[in-house]
Formats: sequence, structure tokens, C-alpha cells
Amino acid sequence: MRLYTHPSCLEHDPGPGHAESPARLRAVLQALDQDRFAAIDRIEAPRVTREQLLRVHDAAYVDRILATVPAAGTVRLDEDTLMSPASTEAALRAAGAAVAAVDAVMGPRGGHAFCAVRPPGHHATPDRAMGFCLFNNIAVAAAHALTEHGLKRVAIADFDVHHGNGTQDIFESEPRVLFISSHQSPLYPETGREDERGVGNIVNAPLSPGDGSYEFRELWEGALLPRLHAFKPQLVLVSAGFDAHRNDPLADLRLGTEDYAWITSRLVDLAHAHAGGRLVSSLEGGYDLQALAASASAHVAELML
Ligand SMILES: [Zn+2]
Repeated sequence: MRLYTHPSCLEHDPGPGHAESPARLRAVLQALDQDRFAAIDRIEAPRVTREQLLRVHDAAYVDRILATVPAAGTVRLDEDTLMSPASTEAALRAAGAAVAAVDAVMGPRGGHAFCAVRPPGHHATPDRAMGFCLFNNIAVAAAHALTEHGLKRVAIADFDVHHGNGTQDIFESEPRVLFISSHQSPLYPETGREDERGVGNIVNAPLSPGDGSYEFRELWEGALLPRLHAFKPQLVLVSAGFDAHRNDPLADLRLGTEDYAWITSRLVDLAHAHAGGRLVSSLEGGYDLQALAASASAHVAELML
């Protein structure tokens, strides 16, 4: 099991009081510093290339993000997405982590990888930063797997409490990618209805405020995991947001740490059934520091098995 991260991901700072704080990643990395994670192979994330970004983002958008390096303070891109002096570098490393992780698991040793990065990615559309996201890390990884490794079937499982609207936008007419998302509805960004189906490759499964372990597991076990197995993915990608936890301040689902261990073990089973075990997970949301650290630890512990 490989862990990709980079110090610049701790320096991206959207400003005081912002939910998507450097403390989030610090909490995750500190939790992964325990002895039980000593066997993890830790790798410094490289920068994504412009060419790799252009597979999913418009050139004008990429150039605008690359050119936005404030000397101090923050620049606001949308209501809740801001860039600080270190943000461009962090965004390049976050997307680069996902690409490097795909290259690693596609190699002869296969295996699993977790990208402990920020900014997160799944709200970023081809031409717009939104919801704390600059580049769509998991989408860049999927596009890399299609183009560079010639895969025909890549699955993206997104269990962040918010709908991965950016990932959906990017792949809604790409049948080689199956995008499956469970998320709370209604909730930001107010997309992800069941009737948004792409070319049959988008599966949206809304949960209601107050839903918890039972509803989440029934949804994945009864509907989403069977769809994923039927697709027979050659690579499993995961948008791993931990903000459906009951203590999370941004949403109203009621998952516990054990639910993240559960869904992770099911996705690992999926990867072993069809993809030679190849699985890459990238950190998305999770805004209660303790819940995030415990949930990400549970996730990584399952990826080590
Ligand atoms: Zn989220």
C-alpha cells in the first residue's frame, strides 16, 4: 500500500475560519503516523503536467489557475473557493499524486494507493473551480488511466457526502468511465439527481438528511456495488470524502468510522474481483478533524489488508 502526499498540500490556505483548512490534512497525516501504519510506502507526490490536466480541463482554465499565485493573502475564485500563495503548487501536487498512484498500481506490483492531499477535487468542472476544488484530481487520474494505460473500463466510486458534480460533468459522455456517487440530497451543489444518467455511465444515489449506516449500506450493497461488479472495472478509483460522518459540521448524514471501513473493504473486494486489486483513493471532504482522522485511518487500514 502506497501513500502519496506533499508538504505543499499543507500550505494551501483558504484563510482563517475556512472549513477546508490545513489542519484537516495535518490530522490525517498525524493519524497515519501511528505504528500500525509503519508498513506503508510513503511517496512524495510529483507535479501533474499541463498535458495531463488538459485531458479533463479547458486550457484557458488551467492557465488561469497556473497564473493565479497571490503574493500574500487570498484570491477568491467562487463563494467558497480561495487560493493562497501555495495553492497552485498544492493543486499541482494533489492531481500529480493521483496520476503517480495510477502509474504505480498499473505496474507489475499492482496494489492500492491513498492520496492524502488537498485541495480536494470532485467539484471542479472542466472550466470552473468550485466547492474548495481547483483541479479534479480523481478525474485527471481516470483520464490518465484511459489515455496512458489504454484501459477500457475505469470505475469511480464517490462516497463523499456531496455530489461529485465536476467528475460527472467531465465524464457524462464517456462510456469507458462509470461514475457512481452516494450523497446527501438536498445539499450543495444541488446536483446528482437519479435521472442524471450520462450515457448510462452515471449512477446517482441520493440519501436523505438523517440517513445513517443502515441506509448507506443498503444502498451500496443493494444497488451500487452490483452495478460496479457488472461493469467489471480494470481499475477502481475512489473519491474518499469522510463528511457523511455523523459529527461532520457541513452535512446531516450519520455514518460512523466503521462504515468507512465497511465501504472500503467492499471496494477492495471489487478491485480484487475484476481489476487485479488495483485501487487508487484520493481524499475529498471531511471537516470534523477527529472524525476525519479516525475515518481516514479506518479507510487506510482496510487498504493495507
Ligand atoms: Zn464533501
